[in-house]
Amino acid sequence: MGELSTSGKEAVVAAALPLRSGLRALLRRVLDVALPPLCPACRDPLGDGAGLCAACWSKLSFIEPPFCARLGIPFTYDPGPGLLSMEAIANPPAYARARAAVRYDETARALVHAFKYSDRLDLAPMMGQWMARAGRELLAGADGLVPVPLHWRRLWSRRFNQSAALAGAISRECRVPVLHDALKRVRATMQQVGLSKAQRADNVQGAFRAPDKATVAGRRLVLVDDVLTSGATVDTCARALLRAGAAQVDVLVFARVVAPVRTPI
Ligand SMILES: [Zn+2]
Repeated sequence: MGELSTSGKEAVVAAALPLRSGLRALLRRVLDVALPPLCPACRDPLGDGAGLCAACWSKLSFIEPPFCARLGIPFTYDPGPGLLSMEAIANPPAYARARAAVRYDETARALVHAFKYSDRLDLAPMMGQWMARAGRELLAGADGLVPVPLHWRRLWSRRFNQSAALAGAISRECRVPVLHDALKRVRATMQQVGLSKAQRADNVQGAFRAPDKATVAGRRLVLVDDVLTSGATVDTCARALLRAGAAQVDVLVFARVVAPVRTPI
């Protein structure tokens, strides 16, 4: 009887071991099926790896030359090197040059929203890589990256500054250091969404300050932000940095709004 129960016990243990590891493998498979990584833009399940699904990737519109040497706005045909857009001539910004990785369209917008509002910080390395490529000219001579700061109240609610996360990812690509304290947002501003160009400029007027001149004086800086719409925010930031003695300020964003028709002069 005792002998039987011992062998019975052994049999149970012998059966339980593979059962337990088999169960674990099964559980893993179930979890993989239940929580597959989703494409941040279209929410379709991704196969393996991170980033975008193939369909969204092909829909992203990367900005390639020819573009305005100053603003980085793409031209529909190649007018030759160094030519400027009408915008750059009619309304020159405080910053020297701006570059963007992609056009701000539906796919780029979905990606930025997932990054900003759904805690998809894991997207920063991919976006930073694309930005480093788009901004290589700017980064080659840069002394520091300056993320556009959030007001502390918004930082509190969003928990991270998307511009600082992008600047960190770009810095890992190009080894230009991030100057986190170069710029401070001294006044909370309304969201720029839904404001006219003039209202946007008024809204951010005087909102930024470079508190420590020693950090920026004589330096060539690259401002980093996620999206460039009217350019009012980065223009105000550039003015603050230049007032504090920065030698040059360029702008590198993930996505920029591009109006449909642009004719070079
Ligand atoms: Zn997708």
